[in-house]
Amino acid sequence: MKKVHNFNAGPCVLPQEAIDAAIEALKDFSSTGMSVIEISHRTKEWEAVMDECRSLWKELLNIPDTHEVLMLGGGASMGFLYAIMNFFEKKAAYLETGVWAKKALKEAKGIAQTCGGEAVAVASSADKTYCYIPKDYTIPTDADYFHITTNNTIYGTEIRYDIDSPVPLIADMSSDILSRPVDVSKYALIYGGAQKNVGPAGVTFAIVRKDALGKVSHYIPTMLNFQTHIDGGSMFNTPPVFPIFVMKETLKWLKKMGGVEAINKINVKKAQMLYDEIDRNPLFVGTAAKEDRSIMNVCFVMAPGHEELQDEFLAFAKSKGMVGIKGHRSVGGFRASLYNACPVESVEALIACMQEFEQLHK
Ligand SMILES: *Cc1c(COP(=O)(O)O)cnc(C)c1O
Repeated sequence: MKKVHNFNAGPCVLPQEAIDAAIEALKDFSSTGMSVIEISHRTKEWEAVMDECRSLWKELLNIPDTHEVLMLGGGASMGFLYAIMNFFEKKAAYLETGVWAKKALKEAKGIAQTCGGEAVAVASSADKTYCYIPKDYTIPTDADYFHITTNNTIYGTEIRYDIDSPVPLIADMSSDILSRPVDVSKYALIYGGAQKNVGPAGVTFAIVRKDALGKVSHYIPTMLNFQTHIDGGSMFNTPPVFPIFVMKETLKWLKKMGGVEAINKINVKKAQMLYDEIDRNPLFVGTAAKEDRSIMNVCFVMAPGHEELQDEFLAFAKSKGMVGIKGHRSVGGFRASLYNACPVESVEALIACMQEFEQLHK
C-alpha cells in the first residue's frame, strides 16, 4: 500500500494497529468462526468488547463513578439533540465559536421556539470568522446549561482548559477528546463523534453525569433519553458494532502509547513544530489567534502577497504525499489535522514540504 501523510479532518488517520485488529475481527471475531459484523450483539463475546471499551474510556480519561460512558449512534450532530432533550427546560446558553457551535445553538433555538423558553449565544466570534475564542462573557446563572465546543475543527481554535461554570457544563469534544487530560467532574455532559480521535464514523460517545439527568419536566423521546442508554448499557437497541470494535482497539493503542498525558505531550510538540514553521516561513501565515491555537487542527493561508501560490502549494504538497491539507470549503486555505494517530514523521514531512516550497520561490 502506498504510504501517505494523512492530515484529513475527520474521518482521519487511525492507528495501524487498530486497523489490523479490525481486519482480523472482520475475518474471525474472537475465534467465533464468524465476522464481527455477523455476530449477535447479545453474546458474551460482544459483551466483553463493550465492557473493555467502557473501562478503557474510564481509565484513560479518569472518569469518576458519578459519570457513565455511552457508545451510541447518530454522530455529534445527534449529540446536539441529546444535550437539548436531556437538559433543556427554559433557557440554554451557548458559546458560539464556530459552525458546529452555531449548528448546536440552532437546534436549541428551534426547540425553544416550539416548546417555550429561550436559547442564547452568550458570546460569539463570528465577527472575525471564528478565529478566536471569546473570553469576555458571563454565563447566565438561570440557564439550564452552558454549551461549549472545545475544539473548533474548521477554524483551528481550541479551549484547552476546563472552564468553571455556575450551571451544568456541556461540551462537544468531537475533535479533541482524549488529546489532553480533562477534569470530567466539571462536566454534566461531554459528547462527540468518534471519527476525529477515537475511531471510525458511526459511533458517538457521551460521558454523562448521572445525577444531572431526570431534571426536565417534558417527555424525552426514548431513543434520545440518556437514561434509556444507561439502563441498557448502550445496547437498548443494536449498537454500531463494528465502529465500537475499532474504537476499543483505538483506545487500547492509546493506552499502550502511555495514555492521555503522554499523547498530549506528543500532540503539543507536533502542533508547536508546525506553528513554528508557519510563523517562520514568509510564504505562510496562521489564521487562528495565537493564544487560542488548536493543537488538533492547524489552519493557515498563504501570506499576503503570495495568495496566488495557494493552488500550486496544494499540488506540490500532494506530489510529496500530503493528503487532506486543503482547508474546509467554508474558509479555504490550508488545514492540517494532527489527531492522536498522526505520527510526528508526517508533521516533519509537511514542514519539509513547506520549506522546499519556500526555496522554490526565493
Ligand atoms: C465533526 C464535528 C461535528 C459533527 O460530527 P458528526 O458526527 O458528523 O455529526 C460536530 N462538532 C464538532 C466539533 C466536529 O468536529
